[in-house]
Parts: sequence; structure tokens; C-alpha cells
Amino acid sequence: MSVGLSGHAEWDRIKKRLRAELGEDVFNSWFARVDLESITDGAVHLSVPTRFLKNWLQNRYRDRLLALFQEEFEGARQIEFTVRSAIRPRTPGAAVGAEPYDGPTLDPRPVAQAPQPLKVQREAVFAEVRTDDALYGSPLDPRYSFDTFVEGRSNSLALAAARRVAEARPGEAVGFNPLYLHAAVGLGKTHLLQAVARAAKEQGRRVLYLTAEHFMYRFVAALKSQSAIAFKDGLRGIDLLLIDDMQFLQGKQVQQEFCHTLNSLIDGARQVVVAGDRPPVELETLDERVRSRLGGGLLIELHAPDLDLRRRIVSGRIAAARRSYAALAVSDAVIDYVAENVTSSGRDLDGAVNRLVAHNQLTGEPISVEMAETALRDLLRVREAKRVKIEDIQRIVCKQYNVSKADLLSSRRTRTVVRPRQIAMYLSKTLTPRSLPEIGRRFGNRDHTTVLHAVRKIEDMIKTDRAFQDEVDGLKRQIDL
Ligand code: ADP
Ligand code: MG
Repeated sequence: MSVGLSGHAEWDRIKKRLRAELGEDVFNSWFARVDLESITDGAVHLSVPTRFLKNWLQNRYRDRLLALFQEEFEGARQIEFTVRSAIRPRTPGAAVGAEPYDGPTLDPRPVAQAPQPLKVQREAVFAEVRTDDALYGSPLDPRYSFDTFVEGRSNSLALAAARRVAEARPGEAVGFNPLYLHAAVGLGKTHLLQAVARAAKEQGRRVLYLTAEHFMYRFVAALKSQSAIAFKDGLRGIDLLLIDDMQFLQGKQVQQEFCHTLNSLIDGARQVVVAGDRPPVELETLDERVRSRLGGGLLIELHAPDLDLRRRIVSGRIAAARRSYAALAVSDAVIDYVAENVTSSGRDLDGAVNRLVAHNQLTGEPISVEMAETALRDLLRVREAKRVKIEDIQRIVCKQYNVSKADLLSSRRTRTVVRPRQIAMYLSKTLTPRSLPEIGRRFGNRDHTTVLHAVRKIEDMIKTDRAFQDEVDGLKRQIDL
């Protein structure tokens, strides 16, 4: 027997108790993004967004969680954690496919998503590049260097800035501090940050690369063991701090600490580089001071790769795979096919090449365009299904609430128009990768704060009103068709 239980009263009660036991900060750091998936034959299945979080919860909180579940559900025997699929966004707010890089995880997707042999194969391809220099910072992936980063129009500015930071001598001001890189998932932020970290380390600079999650983890751990002062001193002794996946920094105390660190490093002419999936103004949960300090440096957006860049990334990947499989033969036609069809990100291009190689190694079938069509079919279908347009959202919302599109985009403030407008904005933010300012423009040139207000309003209503939640879910289903 299996029951879907997300959002149910028992789980809410368990979370409430954890929050009371651990305090707001610790709770938000570890449990805010845990979902209850199901309880099957006594096994409680919880899902989390990253492997890092999975390990952390497993080691620290498994027993406590089990005890709490046993109080709510007779017969609960064990707790199992899974890393959520990149395909299924957890909350409406989570970017589709956004799984943060959180360690030497070379396969960004959980095992369940690919057939087992493929996974084994992929590990074999990259086994030799695993490293473990996690003693201090987060581990660096040896594949992520400047040498392997392919330059194109969409990333040349970010690359130039990253190189400039990497080449600076200790104490030399490069003129932009902090450097803040932002882009949707898979466009090379982590690659660039790690390339900078690696190059600067090689010059003997004291470098610390941390994911925001890792930063929280270290800070909370230091608080617990009362070594927070040593931790802070340690941070101040470095030349270059790189923080990845900034959007995951949560908790008031952690943010305050981060803000202090940021200020003292920058004031001391040490370089800071930060990457996030959106610009600082849109990091809605972030403390205002952190946001403005981050926004005060150089902001650079990486864009989606164009066809030419995609082609060169694919070629580079194939050349790398050939180091393991000397006999690998891939024609230009196949490279073109992949570059033309896998259009979203470097991560997907990677995934595509891995699939082709795995398919070839497992079946012995030569890599032709026909073979690529088959091997990549589900990858491409999933991508296609996800493209939701703001126009579609507006059309469906208008129909549902019987308002005209002109009214929806107008400045009219009557209740009958305001609510559907807010819902449409909320759906645009959660179902498309569009930014708040962009959505504002598409809704009669409104300010991004208006959109943000709408998103929060609808989120609150969904949380407190079950019927409303069903209504919004119904709309989502219509849009997804
Ligand atoms: P992000 O951190 O922005 O989500 P990553 O840096 O993890 O993205 O990139 C995803 C994958 O795509 C990585 O394997 C990375 O090496 C590859 N990639 C992205 N952009 C490039 C590029 N310009 N050249 C080479 N590889 C790239
Ligand atoms: Mg990343």
C-alpha cells in the first residue's frame, strides 16, 4: 500500500515540532525543503533537493525523524531519503530542472531516472576524475577548468571577468567586487566558479569555494560546537571566497553571518565571487543588506548557448569521452543533430553525450543520427513538454475567470480583475523561467515588485485555503496540456 501524503496534517505537525525543537534557523536550513512523498509498508519516504542534504539528514536526524513519525503513524519502521528528480519541481516556485551542484556529483540526475546500466556506464566514464578535496571547501570537479570551458557569445563577458579574477595577484583590486554571475541552471556558473578557484589555488592564493548550502552547514555546525569564532576567523584569512548557488542561502542568522563575512572581505580588498540562479534583486528570501551588497558589484548574466557554442561543447565532450573510449566514432551529422535539438543548457548537452556513449557501449550500435534519435527521445520529449508560454497562461486564466485579456493587462483595480491577474502572474513565475521584471513587462508594464507581491499573495492563499489550492492546481493542469 502506498499513500501520497504531502501537505497532510501529520507531516505538518511533525515539521512544527521540529521547528520548535531546533529553532527557526536550523529548521529552515535543513527541513524547509524536505517533502514527504509516501509511506509504504512502514517505510517513510522523504525527498530532498540535493545529495548533500540527504547525507546530512541521514547522519544527523534520521532517528529523531523516525521517532516523530512513529508517534504519528503506527507502524512506521524506517526513514528513507531520496534526492528529488530534476524533472519534477517540488514547489511551484522551484525552477524546473534546477538541481544544485552539491559536491562531486557527476550524474546530476538520481538513479531512478535512468536505467541502471546507463548509470553504471556513466560512472565508469568519469570514475577517474572523482576527487575529494573537501577538507575545507566544497569539492572541486577536476573537469571544471578554464581549459575545458568553451567560449561563446552568451558567456564571453562572464569568462573574461572570471579570468581577470583568477589572474589577479593577492591583494590586487580587480575593480569589481563582488563579481556576481547569474543564469538558469546548466549554463556554466559552477564550471566557471570552480575554474577560478582552481586557477587561483595554483597560484598559491588562499581560496575557499563553498556552495551556499555548505556554508550554512559549516556555520550551523560551528555554532553547535561553539567554534563559530574560529570559523569566522578562518573565513577572514582567505584571499578569494567563491559562493555557489546563492539562492539556497537561508536563515536569518546564517545570512547575517554571511553579510559580515562579505563586508569584511570586501572591505579588506579580498575578492568575492558569487553565483546564483537569478540576480540579487530577485533573491526574495535574502536579507536586504546582503542583496544590496551583492547587487553593488559587477553583475553578469550567462545566456543560453547558441547553436555554434552548443556544437563546440558537444565536440569537446566527445573528445573527452574518447580519452576513455578511443574507438568512439561520432560524425559531424550527429554532433549537429544533438546541437540542434538539445537547446537548453550545457548540462543537457552533457547528458545527451553521456547517453550516446552509454548506448553505444552497451549495445555496440554505432552512433548514427537514427541511433541518437532513439537514445535521446525521452530527453527531448521531457524538454519539450516543459515550454509553457506566458500567453497561454494569460489565455487560460482569462477564460477561467471570464475576464478579457485587455482587462487582465490594464490598470483596473477591481477585485474581479485583480485576483485573476495575480494568479496569472504567479503561474508565470512558477511555470516559466521568466524573471520578475520580464513578467511585469508582459503584464502591462508593471514593476517587478508588483509581480513579487502577487506571487507572495497567491502563495499565502494557497497555503491557507485548500479550495483555492485546488483551483490553482486545476489551472496548472490545463496549462500543462
Ligand atoms: P550551472 O552551475 O550554471 O547550473 P554548470 O556549471 O554545472 O551549470 O554546467 C553544467 C554542465 O554544462 C557542466 O558539465 C559544464 O561543464 C557544462 N558547460 C556549461 N557551459 C559550458 C561551456 N561554455 N563550456 C563547456 N562546458 C560547459
Ligand atoms: Mg551550479
